[in-house]
Amino acid sequence: MRNLMAMLAIIASMSVCANAQTVSAQTVPEITLTRFDCGTGQAPTDVGIRFTDTYAYSGLKIQIVYSCYLIKHGDDYMVWDAGQSMSAGAVAPKVSLVDQLAQLKLTPQQIKFIAISHYHGDHIGQVGSFPNSTLLIGKRDWDALTKNPESSVNPAPFAHWITGGGKLETALQDKDVFGDGSIVMLNMPGHTPGHHSLLVRLKNKGPVLLTGDLAHFRENYDGDGVPNFNTDRTETLSSFDRFKKIAKNLKATVIIQHDARDIAKLPPFPAAAN
Ligand SMILES: [Zn+2]
Repeated sequence: MRNLMAMLAIIASMSVCANAQTVSAQTVPEITLTRFDCGTGQAPTDVGIRFTDTYAYSGLKIQIVYSCYLIKHGDDYMVWDAGQSMSAGAVAPKVSLVDQLAQLKLTPQQIKFIAISHYHGDHIGQVGSFPNSTLLIGKRDWDALTKNPESSVNPAPFAHWITGGGKLETALQDKDVFGDGSIVMLNMPGHTPGHHSLLVRLKNKGPVLLTGDLAHFRENYDGDGVPNFNTDRTETLSSFDRFKKIAKNLKATVIIQHDARDIAKLPPFPAAAN
């Protein structure tokens, strides 16, 4: 009898676990990920000049691209990175983010979150197109933009939020954007003080990691390379260590946003991965 009771208790606890899993699976809505072209790549870049502080990549030329992303989470939308500005000359996008959204029958008013990996100009150019969206950005990047910014930091695209006109949420550490673990801004400092990468957990494709500028190209990622304009070498190496452990543990697809060779890891616009 005692054995029977013990067995019933085990069976009961198993069914509780099974129910809990079903519930959490149901609470995460459908998620999709779409890539936008957010700048016009020029001739391949000699990455031995600025993208190393150890004289690496001698003579290596890499095709740099500019990527932004749309994440659909149920009925909510989020844009990750705002690319080059439309007035960026030769590297300006051929089609604006707003016009690419229109091709998906979306307006900026429908974008709940405009999330920024870091404050560099090629990631913030069109942020001003989303005045009704909540701006998500690393706290230490926000501080760099708003407290006596250095000459290399341009706060102008954020004027709407700096003057209090827009909703703002800063992230000192990781930020679980929708509270269900499906979309997480990962604190990966070093390229800039508040730099973040993004985890997007897709049902069919599996977890995807968008690097931000933790790495700019595959050789940079594989060898933990540190560009000579990063703000902190030690933080960069620590972020590489953490990012690679996450990628391994989750068996994630790693997408290096600036590397043309990684574009094909997602379906071509306007299609989305899910
Ligand atoms: Zn950057």
